[in-house]
Amino acid sequence: MEHSDNEPLQFGKGNNPSNIMPLKLTLDSKIKFRCYPGVSCFTACCGNIKIILTPYDILQLSRRLNMPPHEFVSEYAEPDFLEQTDMPGVRIKMRADDNRCPFVTKEGCTVYSDRPTACRYYPIGMADFHEGGRKEEDGKEVLGGYDKFYFKVVEKHCKGHLEDKEWTIAEWRADQGVDVRDEMNKEWLRLIMRRKSHGHQASLSEQAQRMFFMASTDLPSFRRFIFESSFLDTYEMDADLVEKIRTDDIELMKFSFVYLAATLFGAQGLRIKEEKVQAKVAEIKQRQDESVLEAIREYEEMKQEQAR
Ligand code: SF4
Ligand code: SF4
Repeated sequence: MEHSDNEPLQFGKGNNPSNIMPLKLTLDSKIKFRCYPGVSCFTACCGNIKIILTPYDILQLSRRLNMPPHEFVSEYAEPDFLEQTDMPGVRIKMRADDNRCPFVTKEGCTVYSDRPTACRYYPIGMADFHEGGRKEEDGKEVLGGYDKFYFKVVEKHCKGHLEDKEWTIAEWRADQGVDVRDEMNKEWLRLIMRRKSHGHQASLSEQAQRMFFMASTDLPSFRRFIFESSFLDTYEMDADLVEKIRTDDIELMKFSFVYLAATLFGAQGLRIKEEKVQAKVAEIKQRQDESVLEAIREYEEMKQEQAR
């Protein structure tokens, strides 16, 4: 299925549009589902799929495996573009021999309590129309709205749908720990939605792509960028926040979203220091003065040439 720029972000493990039930669900909608080690298809869904990793997923999994994030990414992930935008991200690299997730065994998921967000969503996906998405207002479709709904993914191999256990979507999400993940991921997903709603009029510069990738996948490098470059001399930063992001990875991750929103989309939240702005203005003025003087010099030389 081709995606247009204003299509919603559909977040979930391997959402194949043909398996999505054409029914908008709310948090109160009821579903029958159960997934447990005794189910006949146990771990059938852990292969041949695309699992995009969010920055929080990478943080949690690299901690779980006791690896620095960049090592985790190079061993267990591979590059992918996010939601058909030019924003670079990563997905779990399936095993070469059987195309299954590197964390799955016969006994189940070996990183279960730290499994990625997309695995927690399955089989309930979320469609998020945000910043430029379409929504209905007074019976008409308008742009720029905000709407969110859920949908069920029913794949033949998944026998969990035949179980009798009943949940509301809200209960299912709480049980899977999706709410916490949503809170951690929301500003990052918002960046992708913004990019999506801007369309492809202008592609992200290579430098912007590199910064987005670094901040999303490698927080220690992003921290070095903050503390070992001219960053703190350039931007107005609250002293308490600086101390928090020095040691707290979650605070650093949240700050990276603010930084990316400001630098990629001009969002509020980060201000350049006044003296830096003034210095830049003075530098531009000096350059302009120099070019004016140069033009006058050239004009005088031309006049003298003509006089001779
Ligand atoms: S991370 Fe765990 S739940 Fe997700 S696909 Fe891999 S094994 Fe399955
Ligand atoms: S019931 Fe569905 S979600 Fe659970 S293991 Fe089977 S295929 Fe995967």
